[in-house]
Amino acid sequence: MYKTHTCGELRAANIGQTVTLAGWVHRQRDHGGVTFIDLRDRFGLVQIVSKPGEASAAVLQDARAEWVLQVTGIVRSRPAGAENPNLPTGAIEVEVQQCEVLNAAKPLPFMINKDEDTDENVRLKYRYIDLRRERMQRNLLLRHKVIKFMRDYLDERGFVEVETPMLFKTTPEGARDYLVPSRVHPGSFYALPQSPQQLKQLLMVAGVERYFQIARCFRDEDLRGDRQPEFTQLDVEMSFVHRDDVLDMMEGLFTEMIPAVAPHKRILDAPWKKLTYFEAMDTYGTDKPDLRFDLKLYDASQLFANSSFMVFQNTLKSGGVIKCIAAPGCAEYTRKEVDELTNVARDQGAKGLATLALAAEGVKGTAAKFISAEEIEALKALTGAQAGDLLLFVADSKAVANKTLGALRLLFRDRLNLADKSVMAFAWVVDFPMFEWKEEDQKWDAAHHPFTMPKLEDMPKFDTNPAEILSDAYDMVCNGYELASGSIRIHRRDIQFKIFQLLGLKDEDIQLKFGHMLEAFEYGAPPHGGIAPGIDRLVMLLADEPNIREVIAFPKNQAARDLMANAPSPATEKQLKELHIHVDEPEEKGE
Ligand code: ASP
Repeated sequence: MYKTHTCGELRAANIGQTVTLAGWVHRQRDHGGVTFIDLRDRFGLVQIVSKPGEASAAVLQDARAEWVLQVTGIVRSRPAGAENPNLPTGAIEVEVQQCEVLNAAKPLPFMINKDEDTDENVRLKYRYIDLRRERMQRNLLLRHKVIKFMRDYLDERGFVEVETPMLFKTTPEGARDYLVPSRVHPGSFYALPQSPQQLKQLLMVAGVERYFQIARCFRDEDLRGDRQPEFTQLDVEMSFVHRDDVLDMMEGLFTEMIPAVAPHKRILDAPWKKLTYFEAMDTYGTDKPDLRFDLKLYDASQLFANSSFMVFQNTLKSGGVIKCIAAPGCAEYTRKEVDELTNVARDQGAKGLATLALAAEGVKGTAAKFISAEEIEALKALTGAQAGDLLLFVADSKAVANKTLGALRLLFRDRLNLADKSVMAFAWVVDFPMFEWKEEDQKWDAAHHPFTMPKLEDMPKFDTNPAEILSDAYDMVCNGYELASGSIRIHRRDIQFKIFQLLGLKDEDIQLKFGHMLEAFEYGAPPHGGIAPGIDRLVMLLADEPNIREVIAFPKNQAARDLMANAPSPATEKQLKELHIHVDEPEEKGE
């Protein structure tokens, strides 16, 4: 080894010992001919000091940030008053006798010993430097701990980790596939798995019973802050289980894991709340509610049954709803502030926003003159609003009202600081609709994925009203994020076939795409179900990071590029020829 000790481990007890250290120059300064360097390795920082007169003193003086050094010297106590109580090694320093430069470094594209804002593209281009920063090292370590905890926990409960192929067939999870051309089968392509969904189900048919995998998934979709073209899931599948067996297993894992890996976080409820999809939508305006704070949505349609307000009347007549939230302490919002909220509402598709401020001098707001004293009292009783609060109304279709007020709820969360950062508000959302109507394609789509089991009691609605069919799908949500999705699966060929048909697949296509699944179900497929928590998002939340790129070692940027290696990049003529591919270059290359 190049070192006898790490840079983080020396303490007063080591005083007098001769040690050899190796690491990076984190910081260097000169004090009257004596050079002080904070030498860094993954395990910490230690102060090394040059000894005037030694040949090594000149080397230390010339060293620059991020040079790699090996030093040998004697541990001594720091002079009185020079100790650093904030540093674990702050009681000592190492007086250097010998120093070897293992490698020099060019001036850095950005400072890593300060947490300053560097353009993310520069950070990603030099990711190997960026990852040296303490924050990134901490994130990598946390991620490792999370994954290790998951593995150990599941191993102890009889789960087997099985690797499934990356080169496979299309696995529908609602995104585009990444395709890999086959050299030996001209014109044929593998698809990278959007998830190991089919394979884990086939492992249940194979009798594995309890499977997991730290699985890489690939989805070609438009990127947002918490999306990446490839990401990691804890993929889980269990046989002979009902919904709550899966949920309990996961709840147990997360409940034990969070305190072990992120002791600064507190789980809000035990057991976790369970909401139906419709409860979540009606109460919070979203199927991934942030439950760290209240600020619920209320349906005031009944209350306004005899409203004199034309907007309200017309909405109710056309089958819409009037929903509201009460923003605490916002009654004194200015006209401009209310206009801003109205713009947010419009962005969500609402026609407008009506307001009623319970101000000290009396009620005001755009709806004030249309709302009677009795209606105000009823509103207070319904919403719990008090003097000083601002009521915001959306009169629209239920979907638009929920979406709009759901967005405003989060806006007030951030503006009024309603959510405690240290809290993890886990909950289950259950009983999702099985299908969604895709207006643009004029067809039904699976709300989760097509392998999800519909509620058996809803099966008769297949031919009459698919929109009303509920499924045995569930989501794990936390702080406004969907952390996992899962479901009890179909294990019967006839039901699976019916679902594919309803999704508009022709019989030949069903056979072509999913024949292997249907056939497997005819060879003794056990009832089974599973789930797949997203590891990137989870670690992002635990690390208090704003996006998942911060917790992935080598992420792509928002334009799906790896800026460090410059991928994707053109293939050579020879490669394309071998793959039987002819590239039709678009006229204009756009990012
Ligand atoms: N395959 C699903 C997904 O990737 C998870 C599951 O149903 O287990 O979202």
